[in-house]
This record gives sequence, C-alpha cells and structure tokens, in this order.
Amino acid sequence: MLKRLPLYPLTTEVNREGHLVIGGCDTVELADEFGTPLYIFDEAGLRNKCREFREEFGKRYPEVSVIYASKAYANAALERIFNEEGLGLDAVSEGELGIAMSAGFPMEKVYFHGNNKSQRELELALKWHVGRIVVDNFRELDMLEKLTEATGVKQDVLLRMTPGVDPHTHQYTSTGTLDSKFGFPLPLKERAVERAMKVRGLNVVGLHFHIGSLIYETEPYEEAIGFILKFAVEMRKKYGLELRELNTGGGFGVQYTLDKPAPPISFFAEKITSAIIRGCKKYKLELPKLVIEPGRSAVAKSAMALYAVGVVKEIPGVRTYASVDGGMADNIRPALYGAKLEAVLANRMRARDAGKVTISGKFCEMGDILIRDIVMPKLVSGDILAVAGAGAYSLPESMNYNAFYKPAVILVKDGRVRTIRRRETLEDITRCDIL
Ligand SMILES: *Cc1c(COP(=O)(O)O)cnc(C)c1O
Repeated sequence: MLKRLPLYPLTTEVNREGHLVIGGCDTVELADEFGTPLYIFDEAGLRNKCREFREEFGKRYPEVSVIYASKAYANAALERIFNEEGLGLDAVSEGELGIAMSAGFPMEKVYFHGNNKSQRELELALKWHVGRIVVDNFRELDMLEKLTEATGVKQDVLLRMTPGVDPHTHQYTSTGTLDSKFGFPLPLKERAVERAMKVRGLNVVGLHFHIGSLIYETEPYEEAIGFILKFAVEMRKKYGLELRELNTGGGFGVQYTLDKPAPPISFFAEKITSAIIRGCKKYKLELPKLVIEPGRSAVAKSAMALYAVGVVKEIPGVRTYASVDGGMADNIRPALYGAKLEAVLANRMRARDAGKVTISGKFCEMGDILIRDIVMPKLVSGDILAVAGAGAYSLPESMNYNAFYKPAVILVKDGRVRTIRRRETLEDITRCDIL
C-alpha cells in the first residue's frame, strides 16, 4: 500500500501507529471526530499547486493568468485561498457566480462560461461586473447586444471556438471536436467574429478554446493553438480583431492510479507556451496574454476521501465485496465514465496485502462500485479506507440519492483542522419538500 502514497496529497505520511496522516492530522482520529464519508483537503498541497501553475507558466511566458475552473469544486473557503494565491476564477452558472460572490472573490478576476447561459445569468454577470464573459453562441451574442444596449456598459468578452481537435480522452470529457455542444462550431467561426465585432457593447479581447478534460498529451493543445493563431491573423485582416488574450482552457491530466502517470505541469507549460511563441512569430502577431483554466489538476490530488468499511461479503469462488458508507452519491466518477481510483487502508497502513477486493458503495444501483478488484489487506468492518485524488468533480457531482447526506469537508494544515462544509442533515434533505 505504501507505494500508492505518491498519489495522495502533498503532506500525506504514515505515523508510528501505522495510521495515514495528512496535514499533520491522524486520519483515523479525523474519521472518529468528523464521521465518514469525510473529504479532507490539504491546504499546503493546494497552495503549492497554485504556485506551481503560476511559476511554470510564468517563467516561460511574459504575461499569464491562471484561472481556477471552479466547477471542479466550488467552495467559498477554497476560493479565498485561490484568490490569496493570485488565481482568477471560472464560473459557469448563477450558483457558481454566487459562491464566488459569497467568498468575496474579486469579480474582475472572474470568467463567466457556459454553453447555454440564461438571460438572468447574463444580467447578473453584467451587474456584478465579471472580468470576462466567454461567449459560446449566437443567441448569447443577441442577448448580450440587447442587455448592453439597455445598460450602456462595455463588456470585455472572449469568443469560444471549437478547434476541431481530438484530445484522446473519454468521449464524455472531450469538448473541442467538430461534433460538440460547446463553442462556435468550426464552419461558423468567421461569422461569429464578424457578428461579435459589430456589437457596440462588447469589447472582443480575444479567443478561447477548451478541448476537454483528463488530457495526458500536449499535441492536441499545440494543434489547437496553431489553428487559433492562424484564424486570429485572418480575423485581424478581415475584421480588425486584435488578439490581446488567448485562453487555452484547462484539461491537464492528473495521476489517479499507479499505472497511469500524468505529465508534470512544467511539461504542459513548456509545450503550450512554446507553441504560442512559435505561432506568433510565424504570423507576426504580438504575444497575447495567456490565460489557462485548470480545474481538475488544481485540486484533484490535494484531497482524499475517507470511508468506513461496513459489510464484507465473500462470494466463494466469485468475488469479495467490501461495502463502504459512501459511494456513487458522493463520487459518481467511476459509475459515470469508468474512472479508476486507488485506496489505502488508513488505519493499518503496514498491513500485508491479502488479495483482491471490490470496494462497493451503499446505494441501490449495481453500478455503485468505487474500485473493482483492488489488492488490499483483508478488510474487516470498521476499517477506514482513504481514496486518493478526491479533490475534483466528486463533491460537485455528488447527490442525495437514497436521501444520502452529502459529506463534511475539512481543510487541514500543520495539525490544525477547519470545517469548510458541514455534513448535511435530515433537515437539509427535507427542507425543500412541501407537505
Ligand atoms: C471544465 C472546464 C475547464 C477545466 O477543465 P479541467 O479538466 O478540470 O482542468 C476549463 N475551462 C472550461 C471552459 C471548462 O469548461
């Protein structure tokens, strides 16, 4: 099990009792105090990752903004940390904008995204003075034209383009191919620029693409950059578009399991910045400001999820199921797109492996399996499992199936603990029902 430790948050270690420790806190004690399932974020790991992004891109390129894609996990306390670390924020809904507001996040550092923004959301974005709206489609341009006419503001926008690039990831996390619901479609890209440049209330400051998530190679980014720079030159000639900002989205892969390593951030930084510098030289463009939008890679590794083992069911000659007190309701990723996870036995880190076991959840779906056939010590009721890579897309995609109470989330640092989201209660579950 010890070989899995590099998949865990930065400050993870094992203490003398053989317990897993994070941020100086014994996870067995945390499970006892806060209950399970429990999501634990490592503050040092989070801050370190923010700095890694800023440094690795910043030392290779003159002007860079790092924008945290908050859909990976939108939490007010974490957003304060991102702000302190100099990151901006990407929000895609009224709710995500609202969380940023509640965190006191500077709205001029917010990028408002979405493939189907409502009129109300656009009104809010204008009223709250978000830094950029990333325009996805013609209907949005129409709505923004009317809204800016009414208010007289001039809003900075980027246009989201579909670069027609396949990032070789799961089809559910691929967004930049021709056949995509996101962005202006390839055949209409020129019309999009022509139309947007005519809207008086909009200031088109640049272009955006986001090709997908969990991308382990850099060629798709380089290809998309080549495409967009070539397009930018044409659009400058035809419509006077000045590419002052180039937003290359997020999608950087992270290592969830031992058998699938991800390239370091420095590698993405090197390939992306050199592709832009090369392309701008070729097309005689001034270097635009570079904006990147990491979501998953900013938070995934900095959290673990603790579960308590309940029933261990051995089906002779078939399989052993160990059911935990969470599952698909707090982490749907394995059920939704076959995400692979790793776990360790937090209360007996030095125990010997005994064989394969399948970690199942407690919800009424056969697909509610967290990890199939993982090699582990023999599990018994009461054991505490710690799942790695729990920081991104688990909590925000969690649900109340079987009236599950969504878990508590804590932040640890130097032996201190702070609750950043309390566990739900029956009251939360029944609050919206009307008798
Ligand atoms: C989801 C998303 C991101 C972040 O993607 P990750 O894979 O989490 O890094 C960035 N930009 C846009 C527009 C997105 O939709």
